Amino acid sequence: MEIDIDIPFVRGLIAEEHARARDEIRDVGVVRAYENSRERHDSRIAAAPDIGTLACRSGCTWCCHFSVDVRAVEAFSILDFVERSLPDEEKARVYSEIRANSTALDGMDEIERMRRNVKCPFLSQGRCSIYAARPQTCRNYHATDAAGCEASYQDPDNFDIDPEFAPMVYQAGAAHVDAFTRAMREAGYDTNVYELNCALAAALSEPRSRERFESKLPPFQQLTGDDVCGDFDEI
Ligand code: SF4
Repeated sequence: MEIDIDIPFVRGLIAEEHARARDEIRDVGVVRAYENSRERHDSRIAAAPDIGTLACRSGCTWCCHFSVDVRAVEAFSILDFVERSLPDEEKARVYSEIRANSTALDGMDEIERMRRNVKCPFLSQGRCSIYAARPQTCRNYHATDAAGCEASYQDPDNFDIDPEFAPMVYQAGAAHVDAFTRAMREAGYDTNVYELNCALAAALSEPRSRERFESKLPPFQQLTGDDVCGDFDEI
């Protein structure tokens, strides 16, 4: 689906979030700054004029079987949330699924991963067990007709399926992520993109990964990330 980018809107949002993120990363640290940014992210999406067109509903979980990308800051924040918030039994289940998924996905490139439906380890009884801490990719994923998401799930080899989405929701979410990422990159932190299960498994198995990340070193010794620039990086 092609859309017209609302350049003044995107520029304004990027300038506002970039300044706020830059100051917070400096003042409260990168993980806390990221966590603070999530509320602004959700508010911006909720304020998009086409928010009412979304088909996304509680209990609809097609997209929770698609490939999810995260940056290291998200992986560390998610693991903090899991440790703090999930009961021991659920934690054990989640960690076991993360390890199984990362083993299954090991060595696959992005295209190969997209051809596989892999249930997210946080999908439990039709709900997201880390909803407040879910990745930016999940916050931004949306559709105006769930039939497209179901079709992608049923036929993951078919890359011509292009679920309909809401243009202003997309621009608000993507611009927010671009601005926060730009502030992290300028501050010297890793902004590579990793597959969710692989990043979490690496963070769990490499005890010094968080220390390396917070010291502005590459966090994961077993993973090579893709250095993905934001969609609106040139605006
Ligand atoms: S983190 Fe939550 S919203 Fe995202 S794919 Fe997993 S279950 Fe779905």
